[in-house]
Amino acid sequence: MTLEDNFRQQGLRNQLIETLKQKGITSDAVLEAMKSVPRHWFLDTVFLEKAYEDVAFPIGEDQTISHPFTVAFMTSLLEIKKRDKVLEIGTGSGYQGSVLSKMGAKVYSIERNKVLYSKTKKFLNLAGFQLNTFLGDGTLGLPQYAPFDKIIVTAGGPNIPQALMEQLAVGGLMVIPVGDKNTQKMIRITRVSAQEFQREELQDFRFVPLLGEDGW
Ligand code: SAM
Repeated sequence: MTLEDNFRQQGLRNQLIETLKQKGITSDAVLEAMKSVPRHWFLDTVFLEKAYEDVAFPIGEDQTISHPFTVAFMTSLLEIKKRDKVLEIGTGSGYQGSVLSKMGAKVYSIERNKVLYSKTKKFLNLAGFQLNTFLGDGTLGLPQYAPFDKIIVTAGGPNIPQALMEQLAVGGLMVIPVGDKNTQKMIRITRVSAQEFQREELQDFRFVPLLGEDGW
């Protein structure tokens, strides 16, 4: 890619940030991170010209990279602080995890699809993004690394997996889309104490299904 192409991509990224602001994203930290992570690196080159539109794209294996608005919305809800330990379910292309990492979070990301897991792990290493990636069923979490300050589930499940509730630190936040296979409501859970959880229901989204033992 030439220097001119790089300027063009940065320009398109700046436009995307303006679109996200118009759609209600207000967190400067989130907008800054999304301004600096080149989304076009995470996509097949056939989508190069559209990489900075607010659109979800196929990433292979019947899966998608989420809309930038969805990434911005979920990341904002997590209220990321530097050095937060974050568990992501559904590594996919690695874009969401890389935005979190850019914000200073230590990211642990699980993907259940072996092809995507291997492809994305290789890409993240090449591109220099520092994510800890795991192959497995994310509905079971990663008990060996728990507790997590933040948990983000990037696929839609029928309920909130029990293991993820248990692995959330006291004071921690989890965002997860929950519903049927067509529409899910974004839920934010705050763990107030060992026993007490607060639940907020936000707007509707449409995600690929969260598969696995405590999923579909
Ligand atoms: N966060 C991703 C990104 O930035 O590209 C987008 C994720 S895509 C919408 C959802 C991903 O969740 C898919 O890659 C899918 O294979 C994965 N997935 C579904 N169920 C899962 C599970 N139980 N554990 C781990 N990954 C899962």
